[in-house]
Amino acid sequence: MDIVHQVEQLLEQKKIDIFIGYREIDGHVIPHGFTLENLEELKSLKLGDQRYALEKMAAGLARRDKALKIGIIARDCNNRALNTLFTWNQLDPDKVETITVNCCPSPITPHAKCSLLSPKSTGIYKRENGIAFDSDPETFKKDHDNSDRFSRWMYEFSKCIKCYGCRNVCPVCFCSECSLENDELVESGNLPPDVPIFHLIRASHMAGRCIDCGLCEEACPSDIPLRFLHREMNRIVSSVFDYQPGQGQTKSPFTILGDKVTLTPQPMDMDMETEENRE
Ligand code: SF4
Ligand code: SF4
Ligand code: SF4
Repeated sequence: MDIVHQVEQLLEQKKIDIFIGYREIDGHVIPHGFTLENLEELKSLKLGDQRYALEKMAAGLARRDKALKIGIIARDCNNRALNTLFTWNQLDPDKVETITVNCCPSPITPHAKCSLLSPKSTGIYKRENGIAFDSDPETFKKDHDNSDRFSRWMYEFSKCIKCYGCRNVCPVCFCSECSLENDELVESGNLPPDVPIFHLIRASHMAGRCIDCGLCEEACPSDIPLRFLHREMNRIVSSVFDYQPGQGQTKSPFTILGDKVTLTPQPMDMDMETEENRE
């Protein structure tokens, strides 16, 4: 059965109240909520290579109406984000129906991980002074000592125009009060925002949450290699807690409910080479 008929059935059988997918309007494919009242709109339901954090929209709707049953188009990244939102109690898995589709749709392989998608191309100046989008973390560490890596990150962070695009697009940034808008942590009125605090706050909040969808990097108008940063954070989380965000509905090591920590931290594999032990 094609997707349009699947959605139609879900709505008519009242299994869902709204279906969040994509619709083409005037040549633009944008996220849209399809409902029983406007079934004819399903004719414009469209699957392309556009990617939006649909699950973030679902979480927003669920916050307003906890009883709402939501259907959603789910590529691999959407499924990983949904898992994360379930574990952080931002969505109720019993109120969400997914229709799984091929990733992106990927020319590489059906249901490919977004990690296989090509990185943005990198200009010469960025390659020489900053961090290339296609950098491999291991090679990056081998090729650059600590102070070089630090200055490259500072170059990247100093381009930030504090547009909040990375936070706004991120499917797993959901706080009602965001630390990045807390004047005591990040003073308002400065551009670039306090470097590197602004970025380190967000990176530390993404530990155990980032599902490597790459939307933040795609959205960043200043070409900051945010995906690299968050992948590195994930690598540390994985080495300490053996935890991969979004791969299932196991709670993140940072979801501490109650007054007892139940997880046992492992020795940290920070791979922090110092100037002293570098030959
Ligand atoms: S890649 Fe970026 S947008 Fe996607 S989950 Fe991680 S931090 Fe959020
Ligand atoms: S940056 Fe941190 S505080 Fe702000 S929405 Fe994301 S997780 Fe929440
Ligand atoms: S999207 Fe880029 S420029 Fe905008 S706040 Fe995030 S890091 Fe800064």
